[in-house]
Amino acid sequence: MSPSRADLVADCSRCVGLCCVVPAFAPSADFALDKPAGVPCPHLGLHPAEHFGCTIHTELPERGFAGCTVYDCFGAGQRVAQAPSYAGHDWRDPDVRPAMFADFEVVERLHELQWYLLEAVERCPDPALVDEAEGLLEQVERAAASPRDVEVVRLQLRADPLLGEVSDAVREPAGVDLRGHDLAGQDLRGHDLVAATLRGAVLLGADLRGVDLTGTDLLGADLRGADLRGADASGALFWTRLQLRAARTDTTTRLPDLPA
Ligand code: SF4
Repeated sequence: MSPSRADLVADCSRCVGLCCVVPAFAPSADFALDKPAGVPCPHLGLHPAEHFGCTIHTELPERGFAGCTVYDCFGAGQRVAQAPSYAGHDWRDPDVRPAMFADFEVVERLHELQWYLLEAVERCPDPALVDEAEGLLEQVERAAASPRDVEVVRLQLRADPLLGEVSDAVREPAGVDLRGHDLAGQDLRGHDLVAATLRGAVLLGADLRGVDLTGTDLLGADLRGADLRGADASGALFWTRLQLRAARTDTTTRLPDLPA
């Protein structure tokens, strides 16, 4: 059975801190430490009473870990941690560690694909494309349920053109094509971005105040620090919670209805 988007929301209370262990981090404005892959962040609470929680959770930006406040595993952490094959174990057990880490990396990418495909099914006006998206969604779900030896790239290569076709159908008549453009720091106020594609665009710190993003394709767009105050982002296409958290919004921003 295919998941709902609510199933693709991280539930750290049911995880074992996988996102604080599995990835490597280089020191940057988003992460203050050099952390190799597979090594727990020193701020991860490993004492039984800490339940794999972040011990500096309430002061992440001040401590130089702003990246942790926007990160999103798409619910992969709890799915892997709660898998029957790992019952009673976590990554500290050397017998399960390699498989658990590998599963997390695969399931995270598959859940992200599901996130986009679910929106495609929900919003695409073309029934043939909806059928295709539903079929692929089921395949991705089967892969996520049994992630060993899954060729994620093969599924991504099928999803990419399909999501492009869905985007074209949703954005008809299409707006301006700015996919992949470097728009970092640019003042985009007053630009007509309705039904535009900003797929993969760099909008780091861009000024989008008051802009209407209805039907705008944001798949993969880097919106860190982008100013969306007063913008209408409620009808944009392929939003993620990560993008929303990374952008600057306030009560005047019209936001999409994403699961919390
Ligand atoms: S700082 Fe906290 S949230 Fe960030 S990786 Fe370390 S333990 Fe996890």
